[in-house]
Amino acid sequence: MSKYQKIMLAVDLTEESLKVAERATQLVNAFDAELHVVHVIEPLSLAYGGDVPMDLSTVQEQIQDQAAAHLQEFSATLNVPETHQHLIFGRPESEIQRTAEEAGADIIVVGSHGRHGLALLLGSTANGVLHGASCDVLAVRVGHDDSEST
Ligand code: AMP
Repeated sequence: MSKYQKIMLAVDLTEESLKVAERATQLVNAFDAELHVVHVIEPLSLAYGGDVPMDLSTVQEQIQDQAAAHLQEFSATLNVPETHQHLIFGRPESEIQRTAEEAGADIIVVGSHGRHGLALLLGSTANGVLHGASCDVLAVRVGHDDSEST
């Protein structure tokens, strides 16, 4: 089996991204691989449909500017060059898969919460990415381990 050459790290840019990035960095070092980072901005219209009776374009622009700045900052700490930073619009699950495919990544690294109950039924980004991914997917356990509670 060949070694990993291109790693696609998916980050929601919350604090937990650091933990997921740590694992990705370990893989990069172990396999001397190339690291790519992807962040997906979910358009407000997708999240809220046409239900909001106001023009959301200014808010959307602010979200976009902020995400771009965060992604750049985050990538800089990992020494990921701009050409390997992907800021994408759409649904995270499918866009993470598509970006990985387009970049020719052979593994996607995502964070995964210990889910139970309703949250488990509703699924997660990690689940969505796994289903239908054309390469390997590493789900890094993040957040509090609440799998033992109720
Ligand atoms: P979730 O359990 O759905 O909150 O997402 C867990 C993981 O999915 C995060 O740690 C990221 O790796 C990935 N993820 C979630 N949302 C995004 C996003 N908007 N862009 C890129 N990756 C994401």
